[in-house]
Amino acid sequence: MKNIDEKLQPILAQVIRRNAGEPEFHQAVHEVLESLGRVVAKQPHFLDQALIERICEPERQIIFRIPWVDDHGHVQINRGFRVQFNSALGPYKGGMRFHPSVNVGIIKFLGFEQTFKNALTGMPIGGGKGGSDFDPKGKSDAEIMRFCQSLMTELHRHLGDQTDVPAGDIGVGRREIGYMFGQYKRLNNRFEAGVFTGKALAYGGSRARTEATGYGNTYFVQAMLQTRGTSFDGKKVVVSGSGNVAIYSIEKVQFFGGKVIACSDSTGYVVDENGIELALLKDIKEVRRERISEYARRKGAGVYFIAADKGSIWDVACDVAMPSATQNELSGKDAAALVKNGVMAVGEGANMPSTPEAIRVFLDAGVMFAPGKAANAGGVATSALEMQQNASRDSWTFEQTEMRLAAIMRGIHDTCHQTAEEYGAPGNYVLGANIAGFVRVAESMRMLGVI
Ligand code: NDP
Repeated sequence: MKNIDEKLQPILAQVIRRNAGEPEFHQAVHEVLESLGRVVAKQPHFLDQALIERICEPERQIIFRIPWVDDHGHVQINRGFRVQFNSALGPYKGGMRFHPSVNVGIIKFLGFEQTFKNALTGMPIGGGKGGSDFDPKGKSDAEIMRFCQSLMTELHRHLGDQTDVPAGDIGVGRREIGYMFGQYKRLNNRFEAGVFTGKALAYGGSRARTEATGYGNTYFVQAMLQTRGTSFDGKKVVVSGSGNVAIYSIEKVQFFGGKVIACSDSTGYVVDENGIELALLKDIKEVRRERISEYARRKGAGVYFIAADKGSIWDVACDVAMPSATQNELSGKDAAALVKNGVMAVGEGANMPSTPEAIRVFLDAGVMFAPGKAANAGGVATSALEMQQNASRDSWTFEQTEMRLAAIMRGIHDTCHQTAEEYGAPGNYVLGANIAGFVRVAESMRMLGVI
């Protein structure tokens, strides 16, 4: 209960009691409540109508069995989830994650974060998240298709372009979205393009959606750097992960003149002091779906790979760190190493990649720190642009879409920056993001009555 206003402590206690064994969800709620002390001191009406208690309780949680048949004819069982967290601002919106670590607590934490993130974009979208403990690694295309079809056979009844609109996340890319959308279309006998985002361009996707989260995080960090009169130009950057978010962060950082010297996957990290060769990384990860060590093997002398159990990517000295793999991947110890090596800015591409201890280390050291719910909102913002294009049966150019994305990220940055100042914590983007997101959702909930 450390650092939580005493009026808010019973709310956290109830969340912990009601959601036993879900540490990631407790962590996400704890972080938001930590910021809300300043809000209820200034605007005590937010304590009325159990608004904060209601915001911490998902509107609906769906858990279901996903049976499917593997290539050897064996029946496999996975568990599927969809947490429809909050629809005060619009239809539930948030990705699907396929990873063996997925459980209801992880989906709940992601849905909770998503609610505030979506509010920060200023677009009419509520918050939700879903997924399965299915591991797509090593599965054939046919197995992936059968799994996605089985999942959608159950989930379709809970979705709709005005109800709940999923997208991708870890382990869910174009291929998986295609199979899920296809089965939805078949079961409903409706081409309802706006029910899924992250679709391929051929059947209703948006240009720049693939790039949006990584590009958006880079725009956000660029805006933070500008507040101190500097930019990416000539900076050394470390980006963890080598999936969708990481690859397009690297692309945009390089465009802005930064040098990305390290990236990773769950097996370890590679360091290339000459700058990561993006075309090679894309070939390894997007085309061949190989491990990151392959990058060091193909580059040869001067480039090295360190296995995950032998070291941390955050020991690599850099000016800017962009954690873009998964939750809690950057510990207090990692943050201390980054600070010691002179890091000046951190932009979270992933959701909640820094532990609470790490965030404290960064803030205490005066490092500019962009929390994921603000910095990685470019993905969902572009998803909302995809929904706009679908609703108007239109398709925008890449430039038009990227321009909207850049303006939205600038808006989110400025909102967080100004809100932090307004509430007496200049430069604290964590506080700014939590408060600005909360106020928008809570105000709408108040107007909608006790539902
Ligand atoms: P991908 O599946 O494309 O890539 C994930 C990357 O992170 C891979 O390199 C993967 O390595 C690594 N990774 C995953 N789990 C772990 C783990 N437990 N330990 C170490 N490394 C791990 O996912 P995305 O790039 O889409 O997502 C990355 C993060 O960004 C997630 O937190 C996601 O929620 C967040 N995000 C994504 C958005 C999007 O638009 N895609 C939008 C907003 C946030 P390996 O291949 O070895 O598993």
